Amino acid sequence: MAARSSIFKSVLLTITNFEPPATDLGYLLHKNPFHVQSFELSFGKAHVFYPEASKERCTAALLLEIDPVGLVRNRRGPAGEGGTLDQYVNDRPYVASSFLSVAIARVLASALGGRSKERQELADKKLPLEAAIAVLPCRGGESLIQRLFEPLGYEVRAERQPLDKRFPEWGESSYYKVTLKSDVRLQDLLSHLYVLIPVLDEEKHYWVGDDEVEKLLRHGEGWLQSHPEKPAIVRRYLKHQHRLTRDALARLVDEDQPDPDAADTTHVQEELVIEAPLRLWEQRLGAVVSALKAGGAQRVLDLGCGEGRLLRALLEDKQFSEIVGIDVSFRSLEIAKERLRLDQLPPRQKERIRLLHGSLMYKDRRLSGFDAACVVEVIEHLDPPRLAAFERVLFEHARPDRIVITTPNSEYNVRFATLPGGQFRHKDHRFEWTREQFRTWASAVASRSGYSVIYLPVGAEDPEVGAPTQMGVFTR
Ligand code: SAH
Repeated sequence: MAARSSIFKSVLLTITNFEPPATDLGYLLHKNPFHVQSFELSFGKAHVFYPEASKERCTAALLLEIDPVGLVRNRRGPAGEGGTLDQYVNDRPYVASSFLSVAIARVLASALGGRSKERQELADKKLPLEAAIAVLPCRGGESLIQRLFEPLGYEVRAERQPLDKRFPEWGESSYYKVTLKSDVRLQDLLSHLYVLIPVLDEEKHYWVGDDEVEKLLRHGEGWLQSHPEKPAIVRRYLKHQHRLTRDALARLVDEDQPDPDAADTTHVQEELVIEAPLRLWEQRLGAVVSALKAGGAQRVLDLGCGEGRLLRALLEDKQFSEIVGIDVSFRSLEIAKERLRLDQLPPRQKERIRLLHGSLMYKDRRLSGFDAACVVEVIEHLDPPRLAAFERVLFEHARPDRIVITTPNSEYNVRFATLPGGQFRHKDHRFEWTREQFRTWASAVASRSGYSVIYLPVGAEDPEVGAPTQMGVFTR
C-alpha cells in the first residue's frame, strides 16, 4: 500500500508566518524557534521544530510519529473490536487525521485557545499565514477540500499524490498535499484544522461520544454556524451518528440569536442546590445591590440576567430608575418575564424595566449610556477564548461608570459537602477561578480599559479558601 511507501514517514503539518518579524510565531505557539521540543502522547510522539526561522519567513513544523502498536494497545472503543491485523496495518501512522487534531489540542493548546502570554495582541490579530499538510486523506476529492476551506477565506492548493512515486502506473491515491493561505488569526487557523482534518479523513481513532459534540461546538464557534457545508461537516465529524449530529445541529443556532437554553435552566437549579445551605444567592444579590447603590447608579444593566432574580431586587428599590436585563437565552427571558409578572405591573413600574434578547459577545448599541452594569455568575459560562470579545463589548463599547462582576471562587469548592472533588458547581461552567486567577484577569482588564477595580468577598470567608463567591467592582 502506498501509504507505507518511503514518501510517507510521519504526519507533518507546517505553519508559516510571513509578517516580519516572522519569528514572533514562536511566541504565539509558545515554542522557541531555536529548539526542537518533543512531547509524549498516548499514541506516539509529537515534535515541534522550525525548519525556517528568519525575520521575513518563519515556519513551525508539527511532526507526529504514531506508534501503530501503541495505537492498538491504547485503543478505546466499544467492546467487540477485536485485534485484527487491520488494526496494525493501516494508513494511520502516515496521514493527517484526528491524531493531528489531538496533537494540536495538546501541544499547541494556548495557541488554539487564542492565548499568548507574551504577545496577546498578536494572538488577537490576523496574520499572513500558510498551513501545509503533507498527506491529507480525502475520499471526497479535491472539490471537498475546496468546499471546506474556501468559504473560510483560504486560498487552497491541493495536489493529489501518486499512489507510489516509484510506480506511476499505479495511478493516483486519495491523499493530497494541501496548502492553505490566508490572513487569519492563528487561533482560527488551528480551529479550522482541528475540526476539518478529521472531517476530510472521516476516520476517528477514538470512540465518538457526547464530548465530541462539545469539542465540535467549541472549536467551531464563530465560523461553523454560517459555513455552507455545516451539515456535512457536523455529520462527518461525528462519524455519521444520527443522534449526535442532530444534537449538534440543533445547538448550532444562529450566531445573532444563540439560544443555548434548555440545558441552562435545569443546570441553574443544580447550582442552587449545591449552594443552597449558604443561601448564597441571596447574599450575592445583597452584595451586588449594595455595590450599585454605593455608586449612586440609577440606570443599570443586568448582563446575563437569566431568570431575573437580580432584576426583581432592583425593581424593589426606587433608586433604580431604568433597569435593563439582557440574556442570550430566550427561554430564560420568558421565565423572567413570568416571574416578574411584567404584564401585570402598573404602567409606571413597567416603564422602569426592559428585557432584551442578545449576546454579550457582540457589540450592542442598546448597552451604551448606563450608569452601571452587573454580570452575576455569567463569565464562567463563557469560553475562555471568547472572554476577550466580552471584555471589549463591556469595557470598550458599553463602558458604564461602574461594573460589578461576580464568579465562583473555585478554592471554596472543597467546602461543599455535596460537590464531588474536582467538579464545577454547574455543568455549563467553562471554568471556575481561584481568587488569584480572577484577580489576574480583572486587573488586566481594568488596566487595559482605564478602570480601577476592588475585590470583595461574598458569603462567609473561610480563613483558608476564602469566600464562596468573589466579586470585582470596577469604576472609572
Ligand atoms: N445572572 C443570573 C444568571 C446566571 S446563569 C443569576 O445570577 O441568576 C448565566 C446566564 O448567562 C444564563 O442565563 C445564560 O443564558 C447567560 N449567558 C451565557 N452566555 C451568554 C452570552 N454570551 N450572552 C448573554 N448571556 C449569556
